[in-house]
Amino acid sequence: MQFLGATQVFSGKEFLPSNTILVLDDVRKLIDIISLNEIDELKVEKHEGIITPGFINAHCHLELSHLKDTIKKHTGIVDFGLGVMQHRNTLPETLQIEAMVEADKEMVKQGIVAVGDISNTNLSISTKKASNIYYHTFVELIALNPERASIVFDNGQQLLLDFKNVSLHGSLAPHAPYSASKELIQLISHYCFQNNSPTSIHNQESKAENDFFQFKIGDYLRLYEQIGLTINYFTPTQKSSLLSIIDAFHPSVNTLLVHNTFSSNEDLKISRQLHQQLFWCLCPNANLYIENTLPDITELIKQNCNLVIGTDSLASNSGLSMIDEINTICKNFPKIPLDILLQAATFNGAYFLGISHQYGELNPNTNCGINLIEGKKGEFRVKKLA
Ligand SMILES: [Zn+2]
Repeated sequence: MQFLGATQVFSGKEFLPSNTILVLDDVRKLIDIISLNEIDELKVEKHEGIITPGFINAHCHLELSHLKDTIKKHTGIVDFGLGVMQHRNTLPETLQIEAMVEADKEMVKQGIVAVGDISNTNLSISTKKASNIYYHTFVELIALNPERASIVFDNGQQLLLDFKNVSLHGSLAPHAPYSASKELIQLISHYCFQNNSPTSIHNQESKAENDFFQFKIGDYLRLYEQIGLTINYFTPTQKSSLLSIIDAFHPSVNTLLVHNTFSSNEDLKISRQLHQQLFWCLCPNANLYIENTLPDITELIKQNCNLVIGTDSLASNSGLSMIDEINTICKNFPKIPLDILLQAATFNGAYFLGISHQYGELNPNTNCGINLIEGKKGEFRVKKLA
């Protein structure tokens, strides 16, 4: 048996008393949580820093790992999207898979134990199957044309079967409001309701997204023109993108809104009235990479939104590190209490994915993992202890 102690211990939901000791078995699995006065202090492996459960990366695209340093920074979402389309298949599949294996290893090293991963193909299966990380794959579907909803939905179910047939976890997810019709979102959300599984959508990553929905103007018209898509069927809604689509989601399905960079106070308020199971995913480093701006995290907290954190992909980030995301938030919003961010990086992500019985909280005899956060706020480093 081994005994671990640290300056502070965070359970996944709160800081525990400072005399908290974690008891590990010989393979360093957490088997008990006790108080220092129950044992001989000399037996304790004492660390300087904060012990937390393993991190839950709520939003990643393992498939884009080979695009590191490929797409220019600060171009805005439309040129970023065009860049991904242009480059994603320029490397042979073997090299794409090699990049995914490296990215998976990096996440393990960074103390990540579970990932919500967006996939458009089955190319990530071998990496996920061989990994110690728990992956929930969101098979991502794209079709703004309502007439294509049912065929795209059927194809998505087929692709999801490739994952499920090898015992990987997964569900379906619409890509974004500007690329998925309400008909498609309804099919997906109903499927997730029936299967008791979560879903996800990129939300309000740019101002252009709201412009497109409100008035059918702005940069997205350039995107559709460049990829040769006519969108006569799309009529503006006079509402923000989020408020235009939120009622298509089943209100009892755990639904991840990713980015939320241009969500207004009213968007937060109204969408939360219409849907009680929304989770708001912060990917600050990707936001700075693509749009060079950040969501109003203070307002998200003020309105009691369920926050989770994601790294997004190596196409829009220099690493896949949850602690780097936390550092970016701490630097830009120094007043946000650390426990809120630590809970977003651990328990909330696990709860969203429906795996909080095994992950996200320091509970004996689970797969929670143990991290040590060292250094000072804004310059934290993470070490995987178990
Ligand atoms: Zn993404």
